Amino acid sequence: MVAVIGQGTWYTEDDDCASAIATLRRGLDLGMTHIDTAEMYLSGGAEEMVGEAIAGRRDQVFLVSKVLPDNASRSGTVAACEGSLARLKTDYLDCYLLHWRGQYPLEDTFAAFEQLRSEGKIRSWGVSNFDVPDLEEAWNVLDLSFEGPPEDESLVCNQVLYHLQQRAIEHEILPWCEAHDMAVVGYSPFGHGRFPGPHTPQGRVLAEIAAAHNATPRQVALRFLVRRRSLFTIPKAILPEHTAENAGAGDLQLTEDELARIDQTFPLGPRPAALPVL
Ligand code: NAP
Repeated sequence: MVAVIGQGTWYTEDDDCASAIATLRRGLDLGMTHIDTAEMYLSGGAEEMVGEAIAGRRDQVFLVSKVLPDNASRSGTVAACEGSLARLKTDYLDCYLLHWRGQYPLEDTFAAFEQLRSEGKIRSWGVSNFDVPDLEEAWNVLDLSFEGPPEDESLVCNQVLYHLQQRAIEHEILPWCEAHDMAVVGYSPFGHGRFPGPHTPQGRVLAEIAAAHNATPRQVALRFLVRRRSLFTIPKAILPEHTAENAGAGDLQLTEDELARIDQTFPLGPRPAALPVL
């Protein structure tokens, strides 16, 4: 079972490395065993921090990393994965993602993913920041590359921007992924640090719902963001108390009325021309 509320690791230069490692460990203790990282984050530094955090407890973790599009050629993807494995001090990833679409044909990247999977270096693979036309193309590549239906471990998820004030994926991407049995992993669930303040009208609605559950507005937000079976979320925190708060969202149950109120307070809005990304 993959933890529905996981931990992001897109750290900045200012983030305290020792605190980040301790916080990841605290998150694991609290059941946030899905860790998302990437070769891009701190130019490999985030993967090294994750490697320290999971030392001695690799088997508890669902570990995800991502290849940069510029590295995503057939041979480059394999080399990038091996670099990630070395920094993470592990011999396999649970899931490996193409961070966003780049210059290399999907056929090449996917062939490398399949090679890595057959070698046991990754257990599954997916994509990130893919809009529906990209997903359609990816699905066609899978259809053409494999005899019969795609393997269960191929193209398992799409990681996309998703928070209360950015719900564009609900127009088409979420339904498409659900129809194709793909998980949707929402990134930046707190808007990359721009969460509605307690004195805003939206913040007050979250606070009222939270008070009814002895919870916090951020826990309410996280719960809303994983309200469907296909949805996962990966908040990033440096402070252990932030991670403890985020983990607490796991037990929260929102009523249908509360979900509807959040839906009205943070309206979906029109479908944007392009998929919003960070
Ligand atoms: P985020 O999770 O939306 O927000 C992180 C910010 O929220 C940090 O400033 C953090 O503070 C704060 N925070 C977290 N929990 C809090 C709490 N309980 N109370 C108060 N503040 C809290 O931003 P994000 O890092 O952009 O997104 C999360 C993860 O998604 C990334 O780390 C990365 O793994 C992934 N991601 C993927 C992509 C992609 O293209 N695939 C793009 C962006 C992000 P502290 O750090 O000070 O605790």
